[in-house]
Amino acid sequence: MKLWERYHTPTTVDDALALLAQYDGQARVIAGGTDLLVDARAEGEFHPYPALVDITRIPELRRIEENGDFITIGAGVTHTQIVNSPLLARDATCLVESCGVVGGPQVRNVGTLGGNVAHALPAGDGTTSLVALDAEADIVKDGQPRRVSIQKMFLGPGQSLIDPTRDLLLRFRFRRADHREATAFKRIMRPQGVALPILGCAVWVRLDENRAAFEAARITIAPIGPIPGRADEVERAIVGQPAADETITQIAELAQSMLHPRTSKYRATADYRREMIGVLVRRTLALAVKRAQTGDIVPEGVGV
Ligand SMILES: Cc1cc2nc3c(=O)[nH]c(=O)nc-3n(C[C@H](O)[C@H](O)[C@H](O)COP(=O)(O)OP(=O)(O)OC[C@H]3O[C@@H](n4cnc5c(N)ncnc54)[C@H](O)[C@@H]3O)c2cc1C
Repeated sequence: MKLWERYHTPTTVDDALALLAQYDGQARVIAGGTDLLVDARAEGEFHPYPALVDITRIPELRRIEENGDFITIGAGVTHTQIVNSPLLARDATCLVESCGVVGGPQVRNVGTLGGNVAHALPAGDGTTSLVALDAEADIVKDGQPRRVSIQKMFLGPGQSLIDPTRDLLLRFRFRRADHREATAFKRIMRPQGVALPILGCAVWVRLDENRAAFEAARITIAPIGPIPGRADEVERAIVGQPAADETITQIAELAQSMLHPRTSKYRATADYRREMIGVLVRRTLALAVKRAQTGDIVPEGVGV
């Protein structure tokens, strides 16, 4: 089946934007193609795109960089690049753990973080960790550069703030983990079947000077609703509590009682998924706390 008429490989952001403008909504951005081409093939009657604009030859979109307290990751950075970054292993561990379980090696070698977010599914594994990292996205929308919080990128399932026939997602930016801070990601997945998880959970914690109590936390459990979100009330309840097993158990129970996943024929029943919220929050939070307390940080579960 023919999927496109012309395939462009610009090497600068300006050239990519000029091509999108030239095709006036008829061209489509492509990165790794692991979502786009699968979706295109799944559609019964498919009309080829007049043009695809491949952003993976644009060097500035392929970089992971440190800028003072911040880390930036280009939208064209692959999951494999993320998994192989020692900087991210230490300072954005949850992101390494989430990108490390995306698909298999072939998918991770070409699939990008930008594509994961632009596809706009609330269950995207990279997306879940970016939300817990409180990331921002640099985009060009309607010809104007903008910086928006990661959550603003999602309008509904499969609906992104950016129009991939006209706009570009450039990079993500978030604060690197400080010495009393740590992150973790875990997910529950069917052994076979759909590519996206039954549930994923990413956690960021900051402990007090003695590393004995929670100063702040961000907890993302997905997919629960149509767009990725944080468990705000659970996050508020944890502040000031001892960073101990008892608190972790209470917080896991609270998350389980407050969040209401639905039954999904591709995932599992609502009852099962609700049970799993407790399990996931307990395990992920415990791991993040251990990392923040000990400074011993080695990403887990990558490449399985
Ligand atoms: C076998 C298989 C297993 C998978 N397993 C998982 C999994 O476990 N977890 C998971 O989260 N995902 C999974 N996926 C989905 C997919 O691999 C990821 O979402 C991946 O990150 C998508 O990135 P991509 O570069 O391939 O995106 P593409 O397919 O190239 O693009 C996806 C969408 O984003 C747009 N787009 C891409 N980049 C930009 C940009 N810079 N600016 C504007 N628009 C852009 C495209 O136009 C398209 O609409 C799987 C896919 C397959 C085929």
